[in-house]
Amino acid sequence: MKDKDVLPSPKSRFLKVSCTECSSNQIIFGCASTVVKCRACGKQLTIPRGGKAKIITKIDEVLT
Ligand SMILES: [Zn+2]
Repeated sequence: MKDKDVLPSPKSRFLKVSCTECSSNQIIFGCASTVVKCRACGKQLTIPRGGKAKIITKIDEVLT
């Protein structure tokens, strides 16, 4: 089990994350330019930051 909460600078890759609210897993794009929300509970998972997404939920895995 990995304990990374935040990656320093996610590149163009997909991330498997789990929601800190409801533990639902979902795949998100690492440089999403829009707000990504949990599909189960609607909690915000990313903050768009000029081409990069700041991930504000738990990252389980980086899919390369
Ligand atoms: Zn959720």
